[in-house]
Amino acid sequence: MDIVVIKDHEKHFHPGHPESPRRVDWILEEIKEKPKLWEKGDEELVKALHDPRYVEAVKSFVGWLDPDTYVTSYTYEVAVRAFTAAVEAEENSFVLTRPPGHHAERNRGMGFCIFNNTAGAAFFREEKVGILDVDAHHGNGTEDLLPENAVYASVHMGAGYPGTGKESDERRFNVPVYHPLTDGEFLRFLEKAFRFFKERGVEFIVLSLGFDGLYTDPLSYFSLTPKVFFHLGRKLREWSWVAVLEGGYSPLIGEAARNFVEGVE
Ligand SMILES: [Zn+2]
Repeated sequence: MDIVVIKDHEKHFHPGHPESPRRVDWILEEIKEKPKLWEKGDEELVKALHDPRYVEAVKSFVGWLDPDTYVTSYTYEVAVRAFTAAVEAEENSFVLTRPPGHHAERNRGMGFCIFNNTAGAAFFREEKVGILDVDAHHGNGTEDLLPENAVYASVHMGAGYPGTGKESDERRFNVPVYHPLTDGEFLRFLEKAFRFFKERGVEFIVLSLGFDGLYTDPLSYFSLTPKVFFHLGRKLREWSWVAVLEGGYSPLIGEAARNFVEGVE
């Protein structure tokens, strides 16, 4: 498997903000593999999924898209590159996308997210895709953009941000949780999610890999431990997949990412 780092991601930075370049450092300090540096950015790919007017607006903007989501003079370039990496990385890659993506909707960024890397990773594939979102927050943007060839499964906090993800249907399996989610409950969710995918003929997994469900995370009330991500990795071994980094804001994300990599190898 490849670990992919986005070139110049550290230039997308705002002092004191939890979505910081340190997150990638925490992961790379724990993972033994040498990462590949991703340089290519293709804004036409982004415009194929997002509203081109929104994409152009971000290009010429510096400031805040909402009270949580900063845009610096480097953000557009880095976000396009992250999106491109999610789309074009080889199968079985873990792409350390910054900025993250799963809250970004067709015509607006929010929740630290500019462009939806996860939806992009699914949109351009020929196969039937199962998007597995294990971030502690619901992927409202991924649902908004859900490509025709994809179905979506998510376990997330039912209370708090962004407030979506209460309904399920033929293409969406949403599990809102209102208490501190345990490893055992997380593993039972995974069983159900993969059953949901198999029943719908899924051939490829896009993993929306947030680590903010860890018990140490400042932005969630879940209580996962790093070792549960080993089991998540193990489950992926029977599939072709790409993993895209979402949230996770405590140093323990390094150990969780290492466990994931060990599980999938
Ligand atoms: Zn999150």
